[in-house]
Amino acid sequence: MDAHPPVRLLIHGATGRMGQALLRLCREETTGCEVVAAVARRVDTRVVDGVPRFTAAELSGVPAFDVAIDFSLPEGFDAILALCVARGTALVSGTTGLSDAQKAALDAASTTIPLAWASNFSLGVAVLHDLVERAAKLLPGWDCDIVEAHHTRKLDAPSGTALTLGTAAQAGGADPHYASIRAGDIVGEHLVQFAAAGERIELVHRATNRDIFARGALHAAARLNARAPGRYRVADLL
Ligand code: NAD
Repeated sequence: MDAHPPVRLLIHGATGRMGQALLRLCREETTGCEVVAAVARRVDTRVVDGVPRFTAAELSGVPAFDVAIDFSLPEGFDAILALCVARGTALVSGTTGLSDAQKAALDAASTTIPLAWASNFSLGVAVLHDLVERAAKLLPGWDCDIVEAHHTRKLDAPSGTALTLGTAAQAGGADPHYASIRAGDIVGEHLVQFAAAGERIELVHRATNRDIFARGALHAAARLNARAPGRYRVADLL
């Protein structure tokens, strides 16, 4: 018999592209997690696959949970962060486009709860960060450009991942410039290019399926549960 009870999850942003992927993986794969509540801006059906659904306005009435996974929008972020702080539960968030005030609120909350925010929960992008910082250090004076492409319904640009890769490039001494493409149903592509006279290096990550982000967030949730308060990086949890 498994000695560990499942980690009780709240999925915030449950009707979105990422929320649906998270709910499906929790049904289909062994994750060590059990979804106890699903929250979205609006809900049409009160219970789906045995999971109760709540609107954003009903958030304070959700049942007890261990970890909230948030893939919503910046306008929903403050409420889920406040709920996790009030209940003393962990938070895994992949919501991008957060304001500076929201990023500061994340830091403040990490003194009381364990939390992991990342612009990208894939293992490949975690490795790409390291490669970009290394390349920037090895190539002083080279031009650095970050080109990202996503589906037409993505709201923020440049993507959170492009900005995080830019931070890695800056840490290596580069001065990155950004370009964004919004086209079709592209899940997510990031090209980091270093160029000098007569030569060019291209580092590319292509996501073809959003399950990679959902799996990464579920791994992070299982590992974040019962940790000490603080901010954890994807690399600490995957
Ligand atoms: P989506 O538009 O398909 O879904 C958004 C979800 O949030 C919906 O369920 C909606 O009802 C809910 N929502 C909106 N406003 C809300 C509010 N005020 N309160 C509660 N819920 C609210 O978006 P998506 O493609 O699923 O992406 C969600 C977020 O995750 C975006 O910020 C996106 O950039 C980000 N994202 C991050 C990663 C990563 O790995 N970190 C990967 C993919 C997407």
